Amino acid sequence: MSAVVVRQPRIADIEDYAMPELADGECLVRVLRAGLGPSDIHMFRGDYAKQHFPRIPGTDVLGIVETCAGSFSPVRRVLIPPTISCGSCTACLAGDEHLCLAPGLIGRERDGGMRPWMSVPAGLPVTAPDDVGDDTAVCIPDTAFALRLVGEAAAGIGGVTRRTEDAFLVVFGAGFLGVVASLAAAEQGFRPILVDVVQARLELAREMGVRDTCNPLRDFVGDQVHWITRRRYAEAAVVVSEDPEAVLTAASVLRPGGRLCLTGHHPDSSLPAARVVDSSIEVRGVRRTRTLYGEAAGFIRRHLTAYESLVSLRLEPSSMPQALELAAEDPKSYMKIICNME
Ligand SMILES: [Zn+2]
Repeated sequence: MSAVVVRQPRIADIEDYAMPELADGECLVRVLRAGLGPSDIHMFRGDYAKQHFPRIPGTDVLGIVETCAGSFSPVRRVLIPPTISCGSCTACLAGDEHLCLAPGLIGRERDGGMRPWMSVPAGLPVTAPDDVGDDTAVCIPDTAFALRLVGEAAAGIGGVTRRTEDAFLVVFGAGFLGVVASLAAAEQGFRPILVDVVQARLELAREMGVRDTCNPLRDFVGDQVHWITRRRYAEAAVVVSEDPEAVLTAASVLRPGGRLCLTGHHPDSSLPAARVVDSSIEVRGVRRTRTLYGEAAGFIRRHLTAYESLVSLRLEPSSMPQALELAAEDPKSYMKIICNME
């Protein structure tokens, strides 16, 4: 049985992987599917300053719980939430583990799912909803994250929109999260405007029914949003792009009192404080949680055709080193890459 191992930046290999020993309080999970996320690609490229190697990639994990040390555990299909709280920071000590200041991410601080087996703390796995197939079930944690982003954006919309008006949500970044957030926004009655510099991603989203898109290489985003919203600008913006300009632009397309939801990796961004103050913009940092998995499964069932297009590649482990290289060279050409570990 083999695992995909990143030995050092930009060098990945396949190697034999022995079944792990279980410590007290751990479960053994047989991995069915592992998905490659943006953090895996950053890890592979060596973008994180404190990254340790070797590291097994695979942020998204779907598997089967086989045994739990010291206790009986019924066999069940599970998802592994990608973030693990540290247990020792001020937030964790106060009982707010969802606000952990130093959460570990699977595939970055801890080994990910591209291995036949993994041992995890017994409380970590979440039972996967039954009526979603393996290839799409592995997308549930990311889908839940997109739903949470839209929920946070929507929570800020009520105060700035009259009932008779459309509510506009601008989504910066048309990767997997951005497209799913746009579809979720439309489903909840908002008008999404999706922004990305890669036209092919915008075309794909348009095929899925996202009517309003904008490419900053072709048009000024501010002008486009001004026109689409009939000069009112947007009630909320969600930034899932890592482009430092996206944060600045997002703040500029909001109407006064609008809500800006930020997530992801922003090493070079700065918030325009004057704009935030002058327009009373609400800024929210949104992180992954292990909630909304059931809602995410329902969302996937309603959008199965879209998910067929959102999964760019389904690969065996032996193809993953090459896939990592391709994705590292050209991350914007791929949506979700899934590795079949069975
Ligand atoms: Zn913590």
